[in-house]
Amino acid sequence: MREYRNLIIIGGGAAGNSLARRIENGEITVIERKEIIGEPAECAGLVSKKSLELMDIDLDESNFIQNRIYGAYIHSPKGEIYQIGGDRLHAYAIDRGRFDRFLADVAKRRGAEYILGAEAKEISREDNKIVVRTTSGEFEADIVVGADGIESIVRKTFFDEEPEEILFGIGAEVEGVEIDPRYVHVFFGKRLTPDFFAWMIPINEKGDKARIGLCVAHPPDRPPKRLLHDLLNYPTTKALLEKVEIINVIAGRIPLGYIRKSVIDNALLIGDSAFQIKPVSGGGIYPIAEASRICAEVLNKALERRNFSEKVLREYHIRWSERLKREILFGLWVRKKYRNMGDEDIERFLSYLKRDDIVEIVNKYGDIDHPSRLILPLTKKFPTMISILPKIVGLFF
Ligand SMILES: Cc1cc2nc3c(=O)[nH]c(=O)nc-3n(C[C@H](O)[C@H](O)[C@H](O)COP(=O)(O)OP(=O)(O)OC[C@H]3O[C@@H](n4cnc5c(N)ncnc54)[C@H](O)[C@@H]3O)c2cc1C
Repeated sequence: MREYRNLIIIGGGAAGNSLARRIENGEITVIERKEIIGEPAECAGLVSKKSLELMDIDLDESNFIQNRIYGAYIHSPKGEIYQIGGDRLHAYAIDRGRFDRFLADVAKRRGAEYILGAEAKEISREDNKIVVRTTSGEFEADIVVGADGIESIVRKTFFDEEPEEILFGIGAEVEGVEIDPRYVHVFFGKRLTPDFFAWMIPINEKGDKARIGLCVAHPPDRPPKRLLHDLLNYPTTKALLEKVEIINVIAGRIPLGYIRKSVIDNALLIGDSAFQIKPVSGGGIYPIAEASRICAEVLNKALERRNFSEKVLREYHIRWSERLKREILFGLWVRKKYRNMGDEDIERFLSYLKRDDIVEIVNKYGDIDHPSRLILPLTKKFPTMISILPKIVGLFF
């Protein structure tokens, strides 16, 4: 028997749950194939302070913050170490599984229905309704949201869009490190990863637990086990990771690109399904914070007027693009430049961080969510740097 629902969100990850908790005017059903929301987590769990503010999360009520991050140590390919930040709180290390469940619990308290362990297998349009066939029954809805990640069935069915580039990320939660808990570590080196950087994020206040990882272009140039081995044994990481014990392994893919169309009649996309990711850092939570706020406003209006046409939903695409498109395009461009650089280039450009005046600007204007905002202050102070700026900005974030 087919059941009717007002609004169906496919995917109970960060995007689906952030949106579900903001919907006011409808019966929402979230369909999630996992039995337990957020498990396993495919995320390093570093989120900017601003992301959580944008999500209107009351931190006193939350249970997912593991640690507070104030700055970063940047490791050059040859082992030089540069320190940036340190003056103010920039980001949090979060338990991503708990974070997703926290958002879902708020949504449930506000009336959202969750069907767990149910996979959407097929989606089709029948007149002005969308039919969703799942492993737990068949539903008909006025509107369907694809919050279903990189392999989104909603995108693949209704949208002719694929990511421009895919990254493969692999990492682990480890015990036995001895690091300053206020600083993340970022490692560059083309033999470690030709396409990106590696990271180490302290996840407790003692500084003896961390999440480590790296990204490479997908498909990976080495087997995942080998990538992990290289991460632990690279000349610049080895000393810090020598004594660690691996608690669990984290892996996943990150879709990069700007999607030209994220809405049609009766359907829209959000989160990884819409490639709403910062290409320079691979971060998806900040874009989700922006997009889910806008999406909920547009959907609340659509539900009130009972009009789910592309014409009405287009406001969502326009408004999230205004907030995120520039950084996505800038990030893709920085990545292209970065791929053409060798270790010597990286070494040379990172050495600018020896200069106090540059570090001062980076600390003042550096924004984990908006790396492009560094360009103007740096070029104002150093007009001759215009030609090399993209490379520098790409390295800092
Ligand atoms: C290794 C790695 C590290 C990362 N680190 C960070 C970080 O530190 N900070 C940051 O901001 N971002 C990070 N990201 C990116 C971030 O994890 C993603 O951008 C974010 O998870 C996207 O959320 P989402 O809800 O759009 O998609 P997902 O988290 O993928 O959620 C989609 C949900 O939909 C469900 N689903 C899919 N298909 C179906 C179906 N057919 N039927 C029912 N359910 C379905 C899935 O089970 C899943 O629960 C990282 C990513 C990776 C891979």
